[in-house]
Amino acid sequence: MKPSRFDFVRPASLNEAARLLGEAGGVAKAIAGSQSLGPMLNLRIAQPELLVDLTSISELTAVTEHRDHVEIGACVTHADIEDGRIPDPSLGLLSFVAGGIAYRAVRNRGTLGGSLAHADPAADWISAIPLLGAELLTQSSRGARVIAAERSMVSSFVTTLEADELIRAIRIPKMSPRSRWGFCKFNQKVGEFAHAVGGILYDPDNRRFRAVLGAIETAPIIVADATTLFAGPFGPDLDKRLDVNAVLALLDAKAVTDEYTRQLAPVALKRAAKQASAS
Ligand SMILES: Cc1cc2nc3c(=O)[nH]c(=O)nc-3n(C[C@H](O)[C@H](O)[C@H](O)COP(=O)(O)OP(=O)(O)OC[C@H]3O[C@@H](n4cnc5c(N)ncnc54)[C@H](O)[C@@H]3O)c2cc1C
Repeated sequence: MKPSRFDFVRPASLNEAARLLGEAGGVAKAIAGSQSLGPMLNLRIAQPELLVDLTSISELTAVTEHRDHVEIGACVTHADIEDGRIPDPSLGLLSFVAGGIAYRAVRNRGTLGGSLAHADPAADWISAIPLLGAELLTQSSRGARVIAAERSMVSSFVTTLEADELIRAIRIPKMSPRSRWGFCKFNQKVGEFAHAVGGILYDPDNRRFRAVLGAIETAPIIVADATTLFAGPFGPDLDKRLDVNAVLALLDAKAVTDEYTRQLAPVALKRAAKQASAS
């Protein structure tokens, strides 16, 4: 199938892109790597009248390092992150996650901001970025906003972004050198979307011990105090201390009833815990 007719513009600045989206009154869509929107256009699931291409906007590929965080432009690709072409605030977590997304051809074009805006519950960044305690820096013709990543996704393919609001950058706190992490994407074939995601972040110097349960058909569950899942603080053999009932209670609270998901979620978290405590 072919997309329905649309106009196409390629602005050179973020302000211009925000203005075009604002003036379009909901009939325009931003396009970045086109790895999710492209198929939706072809299937006519999306039928915008105007596409605003973000790929020539240098502000969106800028990466700036600060004392306690790194700001990654929304159009930085999965491959840029996988290959370590940008400063890493995460002691390797970001490049590990990027390398597990799809295939290299998809990673060469797909962008961090596009993935977060698209909010596919089975995608990787939608779980990993909130685990890191990151924030989305957005821009629209009405001004700028900062949204905590863990509050940006509401449900499957639904975010708190306004229709004409762009993600400009993702602000990721730097992890201290003693930090540990684990991230398990459960899939059966390389390149697939996740069937389950479990993630652990432990940063003693910043008093953070967080967990994520993702690919649960809605927004991921972020656990800000993971001691509640492991009957105590971070330590060796963390995986052996996982309280499966506590995980199931979290899934109950989100009305996750699918039995396959409920079986896999604790397994993914256990594997992430093992990776974190063994590193
Ligand atoms: C075969 C295949 C396999 C895949 N497997 C995986 C996988 O295993 N894991 C995974 O996580 N993903 C996977 N993906 C998705 C891929 O990671 C996409 O790159 C990503 O979901 C969307 O990024 P994009 O830059 O291509 O966005 P686009 O497709 O260009 O846009 C997607 C949506 O985001 C909006 N958007 C884009 N940029 C912005 C911005 N800066 N601000 C606001 N809105 C914006 C667009 O308007 C659109 O609604 C796969 C894709 C394909 C084709």
